Amino acid sequence: MPFKDLALDPRLLRSVQHLGFDKPTEIQQEAIPAVMIGRDLIVSSQTGSGKTLAYLLPMMQRLLKSRALSKQDARALILAPTRELAKQVYAQLRLLIANTPVTAALIVGGENFNDQEKNLKRQPTIVVATPGRFVDHLEHKTLFLQGLEMLILDEADRMLDLGFLPQLTVINKAADHRLRQTLLFSATLDHAEVDNLALALLKNPYRIAVGAGYQQHQDIEQQFYLADNLSHKEALLAHFLTQQSIKQMIMFTATRADAERLTSVCEAAGFTAIALSGKLSQQQRNSVMQQFASGKFQVLVTTDLASRGLDLLQVSHVINFDLPKHPEEYVHRIGRTGRAGAKGQAISLVGPKDWPSLQRIERFLRHAITFSVVESLPARFSGSKAPAEKATAAPKAITAKKYHNPRPAKAGTAANKPAPYFEGGDDGSGPVRRKK
Ligand code: AMP
Repeated sequence: MPFKDLALDPRLLRSVQHLGFDKPTEIQQEAIPAVMIGRDLIVSSQTGSGKTLAYLLPMMQRLLKSRALSKQDARALILAPTRELAKQVYAQLRLLIANTPVTAALIVGGENFNDQEKNLKRQPTIVVATPGRFVDHLEHKTLFLQGLEMLILDEADRMLDLGFLPQLTVINKAADHRLRQTLLFSATLDHAEVDNLALALLKNPYRIAVGAGYQQHQDIEQQFYLADNLSHKEALLAHFLTQQSIKQMIMFTATRADAERLTSVCEAAGFTAIALSGKLSQQQRNSVMQQFASGKFQVLVTTDLASRGLDLLQVSHVINFDLPKHPEEYVHRIGRTGRAGAKGQAISLVGPKDWPSLQRIERFLRHAITFSVVESLPARFSGSKAPAEKATAAPKAITAKKYHNPRPAKAGTAANKPAPYFEGGDDGSGPVRRKK
């Protein structure tokens, strides 16, 4: 089905053509007509599926075609968990509002509050925001939401994981009237808090599940390598840096200190590399992302900050130097490559500390993970038996190409002690403990 069959406003069709897209992705095909007939939506979709336009296009259609409920208030609010994602959504939105009377403002933490206040006083039609900073403005009475017609939650699961439920509740209450349409997007719907949020926010929602999180991404080749310890991981990394044809690469590490050290390892291998970490100011983070997006740097080394939302088509490789604690995060990280039809490669290094995470990932993906081996750098580590966790899906045996005889780990060793998970609320609201 071509885009023109979706009965979109000609200005929106021109923008889509300008982007070079001729037909809607699966999720767009499902979501656009449902939103256009006024339904609330709950959507689970694979990363890179085109979900942003799946809500921006019908939202714009409604704003262009129907009369505003209020002359002063924002008509649509899009909430995203991280500044980076909010900025990316805002950038796509700007393309769509060009040549229309619709205006928009971006409101994220880490940027000047007074400047934002000035922008909000100009009464933008649409606000794209992170929840913490948005609620600060709401409490400051810079804007009101009685006239809000569309509330869109992008990556709702992640917002909840970052501890934004109180802010979402405040926003819901401030915009609580029967004409509001609400769209909720989440990587996974297999999440009790998302269910509760959906119950509180949505009216008789239409449910769309396209490419469940655990489905194999066709364009991403995934490889897992066992590693004995940190220095073995570094030796493997050095090997990959010489063997692979890397256009651009994002490497994920567990700690900031590792992110900085591994940047030097990449530089020593002849790559231009830059580290992105939460300790940088917002301005510095913006600058790092711009420099990576422009191609000035080939390698971005980061903790989880860059794992969601970033849409960088040149990223040919993702390396998980450490595995993420949460399996959904694995899917998001590898989704930074293989975007919009390009091929990508995801390499994950699995040491004793990563073993519990590996088991969670395997259960989440619902297929057995096999390990590859670099002949010159074989691992002595062959897996440990972590304590049994409650499975969400039927667990399957881990099989390995060259992996036999798993050694049971001793009680209390690093391998079977799940680490606590801390993460900064990404809109400047400080560290919060992630719920287990
Ligand atoms: P998203 O899931 O919104 O992050 O989008 C992933 C990528 O797909 C982005 O590069 C979009 O610009 C691109 N995209 C979105 N819609 C389409 C479409 N209909 N055809 C081709 N690419 C698209």
